[in-house]
Amino acid sequence: MKRIHPGKDDSENVLPRSAKKPWKKTAVEENPFSFPFKPYATQLRLMNDMNALLKNCGIGIFESPTGTGKTLTSLCAVLTFVENENRKLKEFVDENREKAKMLREGNGDEDFEKALENFKEAEKLRELADNEEEKLLRTEKRLEEARKRLKAYKFQEEIEIEDCGLPREPESLPELLKVVFSTRTHSQIEQLTFELKRTRFLPRVVSLGSRGLLCINSEVKNLPNSMAADKCKDLRKSGKCPFYKRAKVTLLSDHILDGITRDLRDVVRESKNLNSCGYYASREALPFCELIFHV
Ligand code: SF4
Repeated sequence: MKRIHPGKDDSENVLPRSAKKPWKKTAVEENPFSFPFKPYATQLRLMNDMNALLKNCGIGIFESPTGTGKTLTSLCAVLTFVENENRKLKEFVDENREKAKMLREGNGDEDFEKALENFKEAEKLRELADNEEEKLLRTEKRLEEARKRLKAYKFQEEIEIEDCGLPREPESLPELLKVVFSTRTHSQIEQLTFELKRTRFLPRVVSLGSRGLLCINSEVKNLPNSMAADKCKDLRKSGKCPFYKRAKVTLLSDHILDGITRDLRDVVRESKNLNSCGYYASREALPFCELIFHV
């Protein structure tokens, strides 16, 4: 368990407004987390500790007083970690491809048995690289689909309406490293979204909320949670919820993946614009997102 305590002088930890200027001369060794300002010692320590914890797959509890920039600090720490892990995965794919290529080419001196052994080893490495690359490409494919649909949508008068059919095939889902930020209130998600904009990171973000927050069907929205779930299920099964149509839900999830919606307020606004269910669109976008805000 890690605890970060304030320094003797609390003002050392608080970001005064006048100090909130972008820190342009970012020396990687001094600020490896791309913190948008010159970090205070306690902030740097917090980011270092979080990063070390994540690298070791640990569990930690960090505490820091109000006004010390902990939201921004923790966003930078975890997103740097995710960025590094994604980079390592791509390097792993490239390295294995390169090793496989070298083994296949050989140096011309191998006898038949050695050449056969190298060939088998090269095939194993190629397979490993293909598998990992395929997982990365699933996300790319989905994002490309979203971009194309959004482009086509701009020229369409009416969205084609079909029944919301079966969920996506499990094999088409990617395996992505995800960060989940759970908060107590909707306004804290807005705070996270605001802080995220101050960083250089551009993760795909989805905000998840209950039906009470995201449902736009007046027959369901104001029911107590347990009743809302049953009523929603009935309406979906009988095809009577006008907002639960595959084309519309997918289009709203495209908006989420393209970064048009970020916090819950954005999802509700787009949901009303498109007459589409934000509750299910968020869940459809979820497997392809790296950052999840949950209330
Ligand atoms: S499908 Fe969506 S909009 Fe329709 S009732 Fe359920 S949660 Fe509400």
